[in-house]
Amino acid sequence: MAVSPSNPLPITSFPTPDPSNLGCPLFPNLETKAEKTPDQPPQNQNPPIIANQAQTPSTPNQSPEQSAAQNQLTLLQNSIISANIPQLVTSCLTYAIGLRSSDVHIEPKDNTIRIRFRVDGVLREIVEYPPNIHPAVVSRIKIMSNLKIDEQRIPQDGRAQVTTPEGREMDLRVSTLPTVNGEKVVMRIQERTRQIPALEDLGLTGMGLENLKKSLALPNGIILTTGPTGSGKTTTLYSCLQLLNKTEVNILTFEDPVEIQMNGLNQSQVHPDIEYDFARGLRAALRQDPDIMMVGEIRDRETIDVAIEASLTGHLVLSTIHTNSAVETLTRIANMGVPAFLMTATINTIIAQRLVRQLCQHCKKPAQTNEVNKITAKKAIDRLNEVEKKGFAPQVLTELQFYEPGGCDQCDQIGYHGRVGLYEVLQMNNELRHLLVKGTSTLDIEEAAIKGGMTTLEQSGLLKALQGLTTLSEVYRVARPDDN
Ligand SMILES: [Zn+2]
Repeated sequence: MAVSPSNPLPITSFPTPDPSNLGCPLFPNLETKAEKTPDQPPQNQNPPIIANQAQTPSTPNQSPEQSAAQNQLTLLQNSIISANIPQLVTSCLTYAIGLRSSDVHIEPKDNTIRIRFRVDGVLREIVEYPPNIHPAVVSRIKIMSNLKIDEQRIPQDGRAQVTTPEGREMDLRVSTLPTVNGEKVVMRIQERTRQIPALEDLGLTGMGLENLKKSLALPNGIILTTGPTGSGKTTTLYSCLQLLNKTEVNILTFEDPVEIQMNGLNQSQVHPDIEYDFARGLRAALRQDPDIMMVGEIRDRETIDVAIEASLTGHLVLSTIHTNSAVETLTRIANMGVPAFLMTATINTIIAQRLVRQLCQHCKKPAQTNEVNKITAKKAIDRLNEVEKKGFAPQVLTELQFYEPGGCDQCDQIGYHGRVGLYEVLQMNNELRHLLVKGTSTLDIEEAAIKGGMTTLEQSGLLKALQGLTTLSEVYRVARPDDN
């Protein structure tokens, strides 16, 4: 019998979990668990419901990583069939890590529980399991992350750590939420010892990269990254800090939470609940003989005031702020009540950024682009500054040949693999200072910034699409078209 989500399995045919099976060692070490295959033969011959995308046929051409992923999926299916809850949770996590997922979602629906992974910023359906084993799965995850098992009416947050068979240490941030169909669980996965990419490897190029490096070489000033949650702002800051991290300088960071630990930095975790917030951290830093300071986020007048004071007294300050574009950041800070003369004296660089999915280089193919899209793209390319244009062969910028995903074994038939950043780097110059002090409109400031060499998010995306790194639809998913 073919099983698909529209043809659900009879739920009663699944065994109920053995409650004594939940109390096994408090923390599952994936290293030992993953090697273990279920001892008992499957008690139910019907396979669990597997979403189509995850169903890659086993072929002799598969790479070792792919067959490992396939094994994890099989293990996950088997643990669902045999209602082996610890194994289910372990193989779910191992499979998610193998696919480079950032989040695991376990969601109760009407008659089934769905597991989805967020890979490269997009959710992917993996498997469904029957609701009768869901309470045991949730309990298992709660035990792992020190949450209250008997509390199902309110949301809870916890943490856990796992080590993969390859020795990679992963931090899990676990969150539960009561829904009408039962508790929903989201586990955010973060590698504790992950490599920080160099600025060049993030996707920063051309004048934007040059300008940022110039500002990083200055002894003082403010450098800001901006963008929505999950746009890679923190990674960009760490790439900057990696460049600055030398024995001769004292670097202090104030974060909530400390996401990545880097040797040589003095990293402090703030606790707003006991009145240790970003502003207080920065003030304390000024008494710690600092050279460079990084503060997790600027969200109030107090923090920006201390950052400005630090910059004026000869320190380099790096931070993030929540806005949509580089120019909008200036408006936002002005709206916090900061006078223009202080902004122009301290802010050197503002980087707005987004992450887009990167095309799988093994199966990408030339796309047919319709005329409307070509006209929109052409308008943005025409406004590109001359220095940036010189980096491309003229016919690339006129022919406008874009690419689309194919689907192959290398990318799990998705057509994308990994992500790349789009960057809009605003560099303060005398013309911008003049316009800011005069109180010119945002649109005029943006126009002047582009003239001064800023590549907009849209332009940055189009250049990456023309290079075959991403698609036009990915670019317009995150960057709005220029409506000038
Ligand atoms: Zn591919």
